[in-house]
Amino acid sequence: MKLKNKVAIVTGASKGIGASIATYYAAEGARVVVNYASSKDGADKVVKTITGNGGTAIALQADVSKEADVIRLFQETKDTFGTLDILVNNAGVYVYEPIEAVSEATIQQHLNINIMGAVLSIREAVRSFGDKGGNIINISSVAGKVPMATGSVYSATKAALDAVTIALSKEFSGRNIRINSILPGAVETEGTHTSGVIGSDFEKVLIEHTPLGRMGQPEDIAKVALFLASDDSAWITGEKISVSGGIYGL
Ligand code: NAP
Repeated sequence: MKLKNKVAIVTGASKGIGASIATYYAAEGARVVVNYASSKDGADKVVKTITGNGGTAIALQADVSKEADVIRLFQETKDTFGTLDILVNNAGVYVYEPIEAVSEATIQQHLNINIMGAVLSIREAVRSFGDKGGNIINISSVAGKVPMATGSVYSATKAALDAVTIALSKEFSGRNIRINSILPGAVETEGTHTSGVIGSDFEKVLIEHTPLGRMGQPEDIAKVALFLASDDSAWITGEKISVSGGIYGL
């Protein structure tokens, strides 16, 4: 029980990587807030799985790109569980398209969810942590480190998120708050299914460029997110940890 008595918010936990992290945290004793934007059924299913296994979780709707929603998410968490120890900024969008197709709306959506949502969530988490401190994990992407063609907007937001991780690790000096980024490689999720990656020629190219020879699964990321949330990583902060099968530049 590595997270016994801890309270965690996982944003975007109705499916994919976030759902797996929420499930892993609850299995290790954390009380978990399963945040979602619109997929209530997905979030309820994750909560049901957790509670069915004897864990504690609630689903809370909040669009992290809206400040009022973020404030409400953290307030409702405090009202329900009384405290907060861990924030996982997982909610994110990714659209790959050539520069000629990029619209203002796409840029705004990526900035608002991937960056502003994460930063506002961190601000509220720090307020909730109080003097005891806490732990923040940003789900970034190897796309921020090794950007691919057609991924300029998405990659920019993830590189920016990693900059936030490093800046805040210094800002949190002496406050017992750790913050780290996980950089997943190509992972099979609802998102990569609906965006058409899974089963495409692009998936084959991704696997060819991945030394460990397969797509990742959400559990591959969740295990490292558990490590970073637990005391096993007590002396790690400000790091960018790739969990990617070793994927290299396309
Ligand atoms: P996914 O299957 O598409 O799931 C996305 C999750 O984010 C859903 O729970 C969704 O909730 C939530 N979300 C989206 N917009 C939101 C908002 N405005 N407010 C709150 N929640 C919101 O995604 P995924 O593939 O698991 O990716 C999760 C994270 O990992 C993202 O940050 C992504 O950039 C990163 N990542 C993924 C991969 C990959 O290959 N899959 C690789 C590198 C990094 P609703 O369903 O309710 O909208």
